[in-house]
Amino acid sequence: MDANSELFIRIGAALGIFLALALWEVLSPRRTWSIGRARRWPGNLGILVLDALLVRLLMPAAAVGMAVIAAQRGWGLLNITPWPPVLEGLIGFLALDLAIYSQHVAFHKVPVFWRLHRMHHADLDIDVSTGLRFHPIEIILSMLIKMGVVVLVGVPAVAVVAFEVVLNATSMFNHSNAAMPHWLDRIVRLLVVTPDMHRVHHSIKRPETDSNFGFNLPWWDRLFGTYRAQPEAGHEAMTIGLPIFRDPQELRLDRLITQPFRDDASEAGRAPQAKGGTDG
Ligand SMILES: [Zn+2]
Ligand SMILES: [Zn+2]
Repeated sequence: MDANSELFIRIGAALGIFLALALWEVLSPRRTWSIGRARRWPGNLGILVLDALLVRLLMPAAAVGMAVIAAQRGWGLLNITPWPPVLEGLIGFLALDLAIYSQHVAFHKVPVFWRLHRMHHADLDIDVSTGLRFHPIEIILSMLIKMGVVVLVGVPAVAVVAFEVVLNATSMFNHSNAAMPHWLDRIVRLLVVTPDMHRVHHSIKRPETDSNFGFNLPWWDRLFGTYRAQPEAGHEAMTIGLPIFRDPQELRLDRLITQPFRDDASEAGRAPQAKGGTDG
């Protein structure tokens, strides 16, 4: 497959999934909006276009190109000895997913990375468009990390493409404001992160923000003890976003880009004075 048709298929698949999820949100919403789509989507989709252009411009070969080079030159664990192709693909996919989970944890724990990543969390509602809202510098760093894993592990190119398409789809799915019957959610979240599972991660309460880091496979959270089944306040009553950047002006594209380099100066963002911890 040439690069152009690969790009065409990727964009087509992403657009189809986006529209299907957006329709599901309309037909069967999980939460009532606090801000809604009209004020959020221009910024969220604007940053997506910026991210896509930047990656194409700065790293046109990206992770797939790196996989092809690694295979040609015999770089990476899987390229040292021959393995059954299916096993190579599965190991490569799992390695990439674990890397993205670990990166997500690091982006919460390391203050300079958190400044980049918190823009994803500052959305005041969570829906399909939130799953595409990441700061361009985070996207570039994430691509470099993926390329590093591809070279070290020797992930086959087909597994890289499969992983990127699946991750894109699951990220849109698990951010969507779509209601699923409870019994179905319980089954689906054994295999993939569901909207109810990831919504906990967008809670304003920090212990909840620092849980459910998985974007795709839900197993890493259970394995590493970062799993939290439900938000304390319930899905309807919980507050989405951060204690900072709560001014709706912060949903504008220019504000999203500059958020990592600013502290919140608005009234809403001014942290309340510590009260000595008497009332939690
Ligand atoms: Zn996060
Ligand atoms: Zn998220």
